Amino acid sequence: MFSISTVAILLRRIEYGDHDLIVTLLTRDYGKVSMIAKFARKSRKRFPGTLELFSKISLVATLPKKGGMPVIKEAALKHPFASLRGNLWKTAYASYWTELVLTWLEEGKAQEKIYHLLKYSLEALDNGQCPAVISIIFQLYFLQFSGLSPNLKQCSRCQIALEKLPGEKFGFDLAKGGLVCQGCLTDKSSPYQLSRGTVKQLLWIQANSLKNVKRLKFAAPAIKESQVFLEAFIPYHLGREPKSFKFLNHIRNLKSKAGNG
Ligand SMILES: [Zn+2]
Repeated sequence: MFSISTVAILLRRIEYGDHDLIVTLLTRDYGKVSMIAKFARKSRKRFPGTLELFSKISLVATLPKKGGMPVIKEAALKHPFASLRGNLWKTAYASYWTELVLTWLEEGKAQEKIYHLLKYSLEALDNGQCPAVISIIFQLYFLQFSGLSPNLKQCSRCQIALEKLPGEKFGFDLAKGGLVCQGCLTDKSSPYQLSRGTVKQLLWIQANSLKNVKRLKFAAPAIKESQVFLEAFIPYHLGREPKSFKFLNHIRNLKSKAGNG
């Protein structure tokens, strides 16, 4: 039997049997891993407040000789991210990002960049930064690290570079994964409208890194355009609609009815 130690973000927790918990974590060093926490539900002293959704923890786990799920032996809380569980608006976004990680990542394959991206996004959300802007950043880098970046540099049909294209509005071809200029847009073309300013901002994010995006400012129309576009692009390439969309859109509707969304 040998043991591993790492830091991790808790993505999912499922009750198992009468006493145990099965948790799926995004670990910094081993990627997405499901582990069992024995007696986590029977004794609150065993893992006090550590195995909560979205928490950042450090842990030691042992791998059983005969294979099977790693067993968590020790867990310590690094950051509780309690506001992400206590505020529906924040819960909705955090659930969406963790669902992408849960569904898209292969079990046991190290994905350090995605770990840092999720950690950055949850921290920014916890600190009160605009959830819609963090979500744009999360989705763009998540696609980039997964090798699925949308091509925003040229028209995907006539191949003319963005700076040489006429007009201020562009469409997008989800199947081709790229921008479509006004001249190439047909009646059946996608309804996603991206203005030149929005495209430039998305390109800037793609060309930079998390370190530089912290002070990024987005105007409201650019947020809306990017949101509609990315939340269509991702399900198209994922092959299905994330379950968390329903909840996220429900919360958005409540917010806009309340007049502050
Ligand atoms: Zn074109």
